[in-house]
Amino acid sequence: MRESSSAYASRIRRFRLPRVCIAVVGGDAATMVERAESLVRDNPFIELRLDYLSQPQVALPKIKAFLELHPEATFIATCRRAVNGGKFKGSVAAELAVLRKAADIGFPLADLELQSAEAVKADELKDLYDRVGLIISCHDFRATKKLDDQMAAMNKYPADFYKLVSTATNLHDNVVMMKFLQAHSGSHEMVGVCMGEQGIISRVLGVRAGSVFTFAAAMRGEETAPGQVPASELRDIYRIEMVDQATQVYGVAGDPVAHSLSPVMMNAAFRREAVNAVYLALHAKTLKDLLACVQEIPIRGLSMTMPYKQEILEILENSDALTKQIGACNTVVRGAGGQLYGFNTDVAGITVPLEQRLHLAGARILIVGAGGAARAGAFGLKAKGAEVFITNRTPEKAQALARQAKAKYLKRADVAKQQFDVIINATPVGMGASKQSPLEEKELNTKYVFDLVYNPAETPLVKMARAKEIQVVPGLEMFVQQGARQFEIWTGKPAPLAEMAYVVTKALERQATEKVTEEPPVPVRTAKRSEPRAAVSKAARKSEPRAAVSRAAKKSEPRAAVSKAAKKSEPRAAVSRAAKKSGPKTVARKAAKKQAQTTRKK
Ligand code: NAP
Repeated sequence: MRESSSAYASRIRRFRLPRVCIAVVGGDAATMVERAESLVRDNPFIELRLDYLSQPQVALPKIKAFLELHPEATFIATCRRAVNGGKFKGSVAAELAVLRKAADIGFPLADLELQSAEAVKADELKDLYDRVGLIISCHDFRATKKLDDQMAAMNKYPADFYKLVSTATNLHDNVVMMKFLQAHSGSHEMVGVCMGEQGIISRVLGVRAGSVFTFAAAMRGEETAPGQVPASELRDIYRIEMVDQATQVYGVAGDPVAHSLSPVMMNAAFRREAVNAVYLALHAKTLKDLLACVQEIPIRGLSMTMPYKQEILEILENSDALTKQIGACNTVVRGAGGQLYGFNTDVAGITVPLEQRLHLAGARILIVGAGGAARAGAFGLKAKGAEVFITNRTPEKAQALARQAKAKYLKRADVAKQQFDVIINATPVGMGASKQSPLEEKELNTKYVFDLVYNPAETPLVKMARAKEIQVVPGLEMFVQQGARQFEIWTGKPAPLAEMAYVVTKALERQATEKVTEEPPVPVRTAKRSEPRAAVSKAARKSEPRAAVSRAAKKSEPRAAVSKAAKKSEPRAAVSRAAKKSGPKTVARKAAKKQAQTTRKK
């Protein structure tokens, strides 16, 4: 294998490169420069996708002026050919000519795909390598396999960085990529990432496995590769700049999980409490795939969601008594030895908001529904001494749950005849744009309505309850409380409830606005100044008054015995090898020469 031996300068030493490179596209020079200009102050590492330009050669002089205005930033020139997954329709020779010119106008880095490197003559490649910091890249748009073969093919050519981009078809592909990075980052400057929704692990954790940097989209809707995450999310939600060998990994696992608000909420909690941890959305198509990642990454804790809440029980080493009775687990802790322990924090999600408002012992509570959430409610409320009634669309299911939980089955026809302290909606009726309510107005003979549906906040049931001056317990409180208990089980710290509620509320408001307006993507320049996220995270960092609910959150759900195990230190991940490498390699004189040339030209 050849060693990277370029003479390129200190400005592209790996320790100088930011961890996130933003890919910027545009159909003409003015658009591309305008987009890059709006981003460069906060993102000093930008890839300009010259292949998106209708005439790259013509555009380069205008781009040159922009580069000269930003000597503090690092730019990659990429002109990927259409046959290799890019947009450039020209020949390999034309691609090379664009990259040569890009080098001459001041780009410190250029990306040349392996297929083009293989097609050009050795002296032409050497000529490009002498002019610019060279990234040789290889993309697989279908799978993550034969990475060593691809590395061997790239390594025949001199380069400053070798970049391998594959496609994750399952979660374990991320492990394959990260092991590959660990194996090669000791001898080469590597960049590696898995594309696709399931590649999120490699996008966040690849940097600690040895990827010098990773790629991000300028904003949602401007992805240049499947699964690319907006840079603002990588920084503000996943805190990629802080990810290191000690960062604990958590996630929400299910199928689907793309729209889960748990990453927003749990990462905000970790940030607020200064816990060195990151929480990812893990789209697991099978439980087996998920479990392999849990052990190999390793993942310290999981929020389980549909369809794995029941199936995971069979895998667990142990779980608490209530979780066993309910027959569903939404929280997993991985012990120091790799054993998995399960809990059901949906119980706290239902009982805690109610306990803050009334005494549960002796309270008459009707649950509408007999699925997972209803089960958590029925067992949890019975354990608190409430008198629980259950009604459901399918009566047999309600009868079975009533029997198991020692609750009472109520025929739907009898609901209107009864008086309750609380009615809980544990069905999805009212979600999204639905105009339906699970109960009619005449059936709402109660002091409180607790609608577990939280998107939208004002469901038809909630509106009906308000109109009857019935007090409403928002479903958001369940979401926050079940997450708060997870946080406490995982970290042993009280959860920052106000922060969690705040970020989820803001995310829901954002989603609602996006749905209502259905506007095309906001121009990047405007987005940078007015991005609601920025305002949110600024406000979130400020100390919010603690919500009244936080008191109850700190109260006693019995602490699990296993939480001790969860606090113990994990065996160091194999990834630490990469971290132990002796400092960054200097990619020396070439860039120094380039910098001098650029300065002279100015
Ligand atoms: P689940 O296991 O699928 O159970 C759904 C229940 O709703 C079943 O009893 C089902 O009745 C009933 N149902 C479904 N569609 C209905 C309809 N059109 N009319 C009347 N009843 C209907 O779901 P789950 O996990 O219990 O969740 C239920 C809802 O609770 C979710 O949709 C979500 O909105 C909410 N939830 C909220 C949180 C939170 O954090 N706020 C957490 C968990 C759940 P059958 O038995 O007749 O099928």
